Amino acid sequence: MASPSPDISSQEDSTQPIKKKSKTSRKKTSWIWEYFVEKSNDNNELVIECQVKKENGIKCNVILKHDRSMDNRIDHLWSIHKITKDGKQPVFIYLNIFYILIFKLINIIYFILLCELNS
Ligand SMILES: [Zn+2]
Repeated sequence: MASPSPDISSQEDSTQPIKKKSKTSRKKTSWIWEYFVEKSNDNNELVIECQVKKENGIKCNVILKHDRSMDNRIDHLWSIHKITKDGKQPVFIYLNIFYILIFKLINIIYFILLCELNS
């Protein structure tokens, strides 16, 4: 029996126009408040506390000065948590894992070579 081969050509409309309305024109750096809360310290000064959860699930809780410039906060988010305005950058995480694996592999190879030389 001749089995009919249905020619299913996938015709998916993958043309999705990317249109993002930027409501937040006033507060450019509002995104960082997802990660920080305002607090007052012992000296009754307004400070901000980092709320980003680390890999172990514990909050960062780093206290930063509440000055006008957002740079220290953005810098903290980026340098410590690898968080940017567009969110986390998974590429970086994968790269990290990749580097760790390569590093371990080199260590193992080095160890094997040492054993070979000593024998
Ligand atoms: Zn932090």
